Amino acid sequence: NADAAMYHAKESGRNNFQFYTSDMNARAYEILAVESQLRRAIEREEFVLHYQPQVDMRTGRIVGAEALIRWQHPENGLVGPGKFIPIAEERGLIVAIGNWVLREAARQNRAWQDAGLPPIAIAVNLSALQFYRQDICGYIAGVLADTGLEARYLELEVTESIIMQDVVSTVATMDALKSMGLKLAIDDFGTGYSSLNYLKRFKADKLKVDRSFVSDVPGDPDDCAITRAIINLARNLNLKVIAEGVETVEQWQFLLHEHCDEVQGYLVCKPQPPADMAQLLKAGLPIPKP
Ligand code: C2E
Ligand code: MG
Ligand code: MG
Ligand code: MG
Repeated sequence: NADAAMYHAKESGRNNFQFYTSDMNARAYEILAVESQLRRAIEREEFVLHYQPQVDMRTGRIVGAEALIRWQHPENGLVGPGKFIPIAEERGLIVAIGNWVLREAARQNRAWQDAGLPPIAIAVNLSALQFYRQDICGYIAGVLADTGLEARYLELEVTESIIMQDVVSTVATMDALKSMGLKLAIDDFGTGYSSLNYLKRFKADKLKVDRSFVSDVPGDPDDCAITRAIINLARNLNLKVIAEGVETVEQWQFLLHEHCDEVQGYLVCKPQPPADMAQLLKAGLPIPKP
């Protein structure tokens, strides 16, 4: 803040003060610029979804795909979510963007089914502001009715840290979403301090082991222990478990040995534009042979 910057400036001299404030201004200016461009992007629907396959480790079949948003920026090309989702969340634009994602993912999934492709569940990431909205169930019910997608083919991903923000309202929302027939996955699992007591009461279908653990398997004994513990926890709670960010054959082998159900990651497939995803659904994926 300004006081702290001023204090800092007095401590360390005039040049530093100049540097400090212009840096802060640049950051604030960039956020403002992105915000106004995002408003335009929402109006003009400049977003696209890419899809990353989720594969059953034993059959090698694609059983799902995660929808991942990209921004088709008129000057900057394809922009990844890390560059604009945090700003959209901060500036309250995430609900409009997230609603578009839900509708587009449902529409696309139904279109693939209508084209005769094997049915899969599409997973959509929800932000805290969406998940904790009063009308989240009503909105999703509307999307399903409008697109004609059956609820069981839509999976909602909510991070462990989001669901722990307000556990009472999470239990109620998850109950309501489950009774509609939707699937629920807990994203980035292992990074957000879940109470095991609540985990039992949340009506999730799936845990997604965070990439930060998977990436150091099998070399790091601690990450091996954590990954193994999450897989066992899921099994004991009757949840499916998927490992995200699988990049190497060694990771695949470790996960197979630990009886992980599904994997998602560059080893199997990077996120794909819709046409390429449709092609994969038709032809299938070659699964890594150790
Ligand atoms: P996430 O939900 O944990 O999604 C997984 C991210 O890991 C994706 O990055 C994916 O491309 C990347 N990934 C997958 N496999 C690998 C791998 O083997 N190695 C590595 N290094 N990375 C891998 P992406 O597409 O950049 O998305 C980043 C995050 O942005 C997502 O993390 C999610 O939190 C958020 N996000 C993406 N789409 C949406 C959306 O529609 N709504 C909201 N609210 N957030 C979104
Ligand atoms: Mg996700
Ligand atoms: Mg994740
Ligand atoms: Mg590590």
